[in-house]
Amino acid sequence: MRDILIVGAGQAGLHLAIGLLQHGYDVTVVSNRTPESIRDGRVMSGQAMFGTAQAHERRLGLDWWAEVCPPIDGIALTVPSPEGGKALDWAARLHVPARSVDQRLKMPAWLGEFERLGGKLVLHDATPEDLEGYAARYDLVLVAAGKGQIASLFERDPERSPYAAPQRALAVTYVNGLAPRPEHSAVCFNLLPGVGEYFVFPALTHTGPCEIMVFEGVPGGPMDCWGDVRGPAEHLARSRRILETFFPWEAERCAGIELTDANAVLTGRFAPTVRRPVAVLPSGAPVLGVADVVVLNDPITGQGSNNAAKCADTYLRAIVERGGQPFDADWMRRTFDLFWAQAQHVTNWTNALLAPAEPHHLALLGAAGERPEIASRFVNGFDDPADYADWFMDAARAEAYLSRVAA
Ligand SMILES: Cc1cc2nc3c(=O)[nH]c(=O)nc-3n(C[C@H](O)[C@H](O)[C@H](O)COP(=O)(O)OP(=O)(O)OC[C@H]3O[C@@H](n4cnc5c(N)ncnc54)[C@H](O)[C@@H]3O)c2cc1C
Repeated sequence: MRDILIVGAGQAGLHLAIGLLQHGYDVTVVSNRTPESIRDGRVMSGQAMFGTAQAHERRLGLDWWAEVCPPIDGIALTVPSPEGGKALDWAARLHVPARSVDQRLKMPAWLGEFERLGGKLVLHDATPEDLEGYAARYDLVLVAAGKGQIASLFERDPERSPYAAPQRALAVTYVNGLAPRPEHSAVCFNLLPGVGEYFVFPALTHTGPCEIMVFEGVPGGPMDCWGDVRGPAEHLARSRRILETFFPWEAERCAGIELTDANAVLTGRFAPTVRRPVAVLPSGAPVLGVADVVVLNDPITGQGSNNAAKCADTYLRAIVERGGQPFDADWMRRTFDLFWAQAQHVTNWTNALLAPAEPHHLALLGAAGERPEIASRFVNGFDDPADYADWFMDAARAEAYLSRVAA
C-alpha cells in the first residue's frame, strides 16, 4: 500500500492520518510533542466546532466526546452603546449545536487511536532538511504543522493575505464557575468597535465541563494588555478587569470563576496568512501544506479547527481518488484548490470582521435584532461561511437581501 508521511499531530494531521489508516494506507506521523506533553501542557485554542466539521469527525468514528461535551446551542451578539448599556443584543440558535473539546484531551486520545490502527508515530521536530529525506522515501509528504516555524517553507500569497501584521492581541482563559446564559447556551460574542471582542462559550476540558473566554484586543488599544501579566492568577484577574471595564454584563457572570487548571491560559498574536499550497524542496520534490500551514485565519470567527477538519476531509477524498497515480505538484495544487473553494469564504469573511465594520454590515447586524430570520442566517453561517458571499459580504447584495426580508 502507498506510504504517506504527515508532519504535525494536530486537528488536521491526526484527522487525515486516521482517515488514511482506515483506508488501508501506511501512515507515519512526525510530532514534535509527546501525547503526555500535549495533555499536561498549556491550552492551545478555543476549538469550537460547528455541525459540518463535527460530521467529518463522526464519519471516521472520531466524535468520542459528543455525549459528554456540553452543547453550544446558539450564538449571541452584543454591542455596547457609547452611553452605557447595549446598542445591539440578540441571539439565535444553531441548527446543529457546536462543541469544543479541549485539544489537550482530543489529540492524545487520537494519537492513541492512530497507533492502535497501526500508524507509526515519530517524535521529532521536523526540519526542512528532514523533508528531503521524507520526500525521497514516502509517496506523499504533507505538512500539517499549524503555526510551526516549518510553515514558512510555504510562500506567503500576498493577494490572498491582506494583512502583513497581527490584527488582534489574543488571550484565552479556561474557567469553572461561570454563570450560564439563562435562555440557551451560546457563544456570547461581545464586540466593541476600536477596542476588541470578547467571546465565551461552554466546552469540555480534562477536568470536565468548563467555559472558555477568548479576548481579541485591537493592537495598541486598551484590550492589548497582556504583556505585563505574570502567571495564571494575574491572567485571570486581567480577564475580569477587561470585562468589568468594557462588558459589565459579562463580568456579572464571573463572580464565581476560577481557572480550570494551572495551564488554562494563553496569550499571543499572529498575522492571518494564506500561503501557496506546495513547497518545492531543493531536490525538486513537492510537499503539500495542510490547514493552518496554508490558510491561517485570526480566531475572531472561531474557524481554524473547522477549517482543519474540512481540509483533512477534502485531502482524504482526493488521496483516495488518486488511486495509484503519482502525487505530483499539479495534483497537490488541484487538491488545495478544492479546499480553497470553501476556505476562501472563511478567510474573506474573517478578514472583513477584523476591519472596521462596513455600513452594510452594521445595517444587517442591526436588522438581525428585529428580524429573527436574519439573526438565524448570520449565526448558521458560522457552520458554512460560503453563505455570507450571497448576502453579507457585498453591499449591493446586502441591500437586496434586506429589501427581500422587509417585503
Ligand atoms: C486563541 C485561539 C482561539 C481559537 N479558537 C478557535 C475556535 O473557537 N474554533 C476553531 O475552529 N478554531 C479555533 N482556533 C484555531 C484552531 O485551534 C487551529 O486553527 C487548529 O488547531 C489548526 O489545526 P492544524 O492541524 O492546522 O494545526 P494544529 O492543531 O496547531 O497542529 C499542528 C501540530 O504540529 C506540531 N508541529 C509544529 N511544527 C512541527 C514540526 N516541525 N515537526 C513536528 N510537529 C510539528 C504542533 O506541535 C502541533 O501539534 C483558535 C486558535 C487560537 C490561537
